[in-house]
Amino acid sequence: MAITDQQVERYARHILLPEIGGTGQAKLLKSSVLVVGGGGLGAPVIQYLAAAGVGTIGIIDDDEVDLSNLQRQVIHTTDRVGMKKVESARQSVAALNPDVTVNALDYRLTADNAQEIITQYDIVADGCDNFATRFLINDTCHLIGKTLVSGAILRFDGQLITFKTHARKSQGKDEETGYPCYRCLYPAPPPPDMVPTCAEAGVLGALCGIIGSLQAAEVVKELIGAGDSLAGSLLIFDGLRSDFRKVRIKPDPACRLCGEEATINDLSGIY
Ligand code: ZN
Repeated sequence: MAITDQQVERYARHILLPEIGGTGQAKLLKSSVLVVGGGGLGAPVIQYLAAAGVGTIGIIDDDEVDLSNLQRQVIHTTDRVGMKKVESARQSVAALNPDVTVNALDYRLTADNAQEIITQYDIVADGCDNFATRFLINDTCHLIGKTLVSGAILRFDGQLITFKTHARKSQGKDEETGYPCYRCLYPAPPPPDMVPTCAEAGVLGALCGIIGSLQAAEVVKELIGAGDSLAGSLLIFDGLRSDFRKVRIKPDPACRLCGEEATINDLSGIY
């Protein structure tokens, strides 16, 4: 795909970067990303991916814009309260960058549709707000070999990690090791009501921008193959202390999904 003069101007600050350049920008324009959730994390992820010229962005969310969303979900606007979030996000992206096609998926990701949907995209960004969907996305991405950049936020705290169980990293000499999946970190969803949601416990609006922007940056890096992947590294942000920590996460040989004797081989009957 040849980049037009207008695109050279629009993406000039990307094209200047040796890690992106014209080749990387052309790659972004041909790329597709599925963003799960058009809310707190989804908003900055979608906006930065759209601004970056990611050619196709799928947004899946069955929710509508609520007045209480607007404190942090900056892709939506006051006059769109009551509108489907995917439609509101589509309108914002259309106003920002005509190079981007939005697939507005106005329903929930389920065990029945996850594989069919996720397989159509190059990479997945998870910004969903519940554990069942989080595990479903992780399991699907592992089973079909898709890279997943996963963000989570609550109160003043955020986390970010990339899951890439289909990739291998060199350990020096001829040794190779794999990367963990979400179940290596958290084997199963917590009991209902044990972990509060943002709706119950609150969340700092700007925290969504911090973690969501990092998530968008990691997605772009994965798409163009720049820098170090966050695969196997959990980035933890403590917003009250303004402190970032990075924790190495190893694959769990006993993991039910990606371990040596995995028992989860398909998506039926788990969610
Ligand atoms: Zn695992």
